[in-house]
Amino acid sequence: TVGMIVIDANGNVAGGTSTNGASHKVPGRVGDSPITGSGAYVDNNVGGAAATGDGDVMMRFLPSYQAVRNMEAGMTPTAAAEDALRRIAKFYPNYLGALVAVNKQGQFGGAAHGWNFSYSVRNSTMSDVTVFSVTPL
Ligand code: ASP
Repeated sequence: TVGMIVIDANGNVAGGTSTNGASHKVPGRVGDSPITGSGAYVDNNVGGAAATGDGDVMMRFLPSYQAVRNMEAGMTPTAAAEDALRRIAKFYPNYLGALVAVNKQGQFGGAAHGWNFSYSVRNSTMSDVTVFSVTPL
C-alpha cells in the first residue's frame, strides 16, 4: 500500500491510498485501503493518518480514524499511531501493520507492529524527501 497525507499551503489536509491488495486475495476482495477510517482518514481541523499491513485485520479497528481522534485528544502523531496499533494487538498479537500520522501543525510520526517500517516526509524545512525508520512496537 502507498498511503499519503498532505497539507497544502492553505493548511488543508488530504489523504489517499493505493494498493496492490493482499497476496493470494480472493477475487472481489475489498481490503482496508479504500475504507475511509481504515486505510486513511483526515479531519481538516486535526490532521490525517494512513495505514498499511494486514488489511483484513486492521479494517476491523479503523486505525486511521483512531489515530486522528487520538491527535484530536492531544496525543503527538507518533503516540496517536502507536495507540491505534496497540488497540489491534490486544486482539491480534501477531498482525503486521503500520501507520503514519501528521497533525495540522505539521508534526508527523509513524508506528509499526510486527515489522520494520519506514516512511518518507517532505516539508518546507527539508531540501529533499527524508526517510524515517520506525522501531516496531
Ligand atoms: N493493507 C493492504 C491490504 O490488506 C495491503 C498492504 O498494505 O500492502 O489490502
